[in-house]
Amino acid sequence: MQLYSTNNKENIVDLKQAVLKSLAVDKGLYMPTDIPQLDPKFIANIKDFSFQEIAFTVCANLLKDCIPANDLMGIINRAFNFPAPVVPITDKISTLELFHGPSLAFKDFGARFMAQLMSYFNRGNKDDLTILVATSGDTGGAVAAGFYNTPGIKVIILYPKGKVSEIQEKQLTTLGGNITACEIDGNFDDCQALVKTAFLDPELTKAFNLSSANSINIARLIPQSFYYFEAYKQKQTDKPLVFSVPSGNFGNITAGLFAKRMGLPIEKFIAATNVNKVVPDYLSSGTYNPIKSKETIANAMDVGNPSNFARMMELYPTHDSMTNDIQGYWYEDSIIRGKMKEVYLETNYVLDPHGAIGYLSCEDYLKSNDHELIFLETAHPCKFLPDVEKAIDTKIDLPQSIKEILNKENINNPLDNSFESFKSWMLS
Ligand SMILES: *Cc1c(COP(=O)(O)O)cnc(C)c1O
Repeated sequence: MQLYSTNNKENIVDLKQAVLKSLAVDKGLYMPTDIPQLDPKFIANIKDFSFQEIAFTVCANLLKDCIPANDLMGIINRAFNFPAPVVPITDKISTLELFHGPSLAFKDFGARFMAQLMSYFNRGNKDDLTILVATSGDTGGAVAAGFYNTPGIKVIILYPKGKVSEIQEKQLTTLGGNITACEIDGNFDDCQALVKTAFLDPELTKAFNLSSANSINIARLIPQSFYYFEAYKQKQTDKPLVFSVPSGNFGNITAGLFAKRMGLPIEKFIAATNVNKVVPDYLSSGTYNPIKSKETIANAMDVGNPSNFARMMELYPTHDSMTNDIQGYWYEDSIIRGKMKEVYLETNYVLDPHGAIGYLSCEDYLKSNDHELIFLETAHPCKFLPDVEKAIDTKIDLPQSIKEILNKENINNPLDNSFESFKSWMLS
């Protein structure tokens, strides 16, 4: 497999480099030079394949001979040991629940696969890899759980003091082992600035074999395509199938577009957002205008300049080609809250705010189409507990895994937001 930078098609690397570097030197995102069509017989007989076998088939075609078959199967089996069920909500609308992994969000799929690939590519290197990651909440939890106990890798997570939820903080600070959490007295931007500066610091880069677990890493995108195949397999419909994807940085939907390119018969994608609606605006107007992000209750999607838009433009260079396959919808907080309550009262299903955006867009899409729809439920509702309980006016049950970590003690390293403090802590 070869990959090029979205900023320069001549800048070509192999998978190992793309995974260990995350971002190209010219700051572009890596894209596969070739997205091969899968054998139509595989798609026709997909019900005979397990999730792991689907993942293997996609990888064998996309990654080619980067990784020998036995090693690849091991990577896949270690990464994906939890289900991704499609659950019907109405006769036309189902949800693909992506929150059954350890951090209860879809980011587990990407983080666990990336951890396995990084460990694989760093094998035989006598120096451990040190992953630095800044988080505003969800990414850190998935990365911490994904890399936990991965041989040859240490993880340092920087999170802003008092600005992540109680459950999120527990997910970052209670694992121990190769996962270390730093509580930074500052905001998310300070955390991100510390990570960026660390990568430029000669002493730190000499002392550590540093890498990042950035969300734009191609190793996080590839596994997110597997569950579109899995959902298609479970749905078994003769009607045209539409996926609605609650989107922030647009990685999840880009992975779905990869699946379609590989031959999965998907009629349309819905790009569903909160008021950070730069992509729905692009789809309706043809102009891309990044904004400063606005805070909403679907805060994992508060992104004003989605990084993966560059990859979408590689797949659909013209506005017409993109609008053929993708339709945009967006919603305000009050609408999201109202729908969470309505769906709970009518069906007993508890949506999280991000999933509620997916559900809303399915309903709106059905007003002018008779298709079958699946929206992605990107996180378990308990990750947004106060907003969800308030919206539906009911207490929700916590999953057992969360009940267990709530009793554990937070272990973190409190630091101020200066680079000097962070650096001296690293070097000690
Ligand atoms: C990260 C995240 C999203 C946004 O996904 P993108 O791939 O960035 O579009 C949506 N919902 C939840 C719960 C998330 O954590």
